[in-house]
Amino acid sequence: MINIALDGPAGSGKSTVAKILSNKLDILYLDTGAMYRACGLKCKNLGVSVKDEVAVSSFIDGIDLKIEYKNGTQITILDGVDVSTDIRKPEVSMLASDVSALKCVRLKMVDMQRKIASSMDCVLDGRDIGSFVLPNAKFKYFVTADSKVRAERRYKELVERGTPVDFDELHKEILQRDYNDSHRDFAPLKQADDAIVVDTSTMSVDEVVNYILSDVNRRK
Ligand code: C5P
Repeated sequence: MINIALDGPAGSGKSTVAKILSNKLDILYLDTGAMYRACGLKCKNLGVSVKDEVAVSSFIDGIDLKIEYKNGTQITILDGVDVSTDIRKPEVSMLASDVSALKCVRLKMVDMQRKIASSMDCVLDGRDIGSFVLPNAKFKYFVTADSKVRAERRYKELVERGTPVDFDELHKEILQRDYNDSHRDFAPLKQADDAIVVDTSTMSVDEVVNYILSDVNRRK
């Protein structure tokens, strides 16, 4: 079984790289951030605070969340509705970051992720894949970049999607998410000891993909 763990902070380029890698290797791409985003959206729909562990724990085990694939693209389905676009909204990013700090949420999502990863070859991107979800994965990369570069990438992405935001606000939000994600008690954003660090600040997408691909092909 090939499991490739790509971890790193928001905007490091891991999802772009994960998509291309999975295509080239003809294996599944699991965007685990989308799952936490869907949990954040569920709280919003229910009017529940993403920090209220008691309230969240009352519904999280029975959450109707499905990950499906259409023409090779991940579709996130919450309560029977395709929320793939809604979960990309900037306001959902912070909800995801907060709700993902709750242990009950992580245990449920990690359980789903492990089931998928044990049943098929896949590239997973997230924060804790190499350090917690799949500590025995053979291929682990910690993809990072300078925070300004990451904010610029997100900015471009949002502009292209037709939802422009204020750059300084976006940069602040990224720094806040970095802090939240790396300071939570349970399974924080962390570089696994045996992960290969890839600083993409001055690398093109192709360079990152080729670097990881050649390492995978060499060792697989
Ligand atoms: O990767 P993305 O920006 O979509 O993730 C949204 C949020 O979900 C992150 O800020 C992080 O708090 C959380 N997350 C996580 N663990 C993962 C993936 C995402 O905590 N494996």
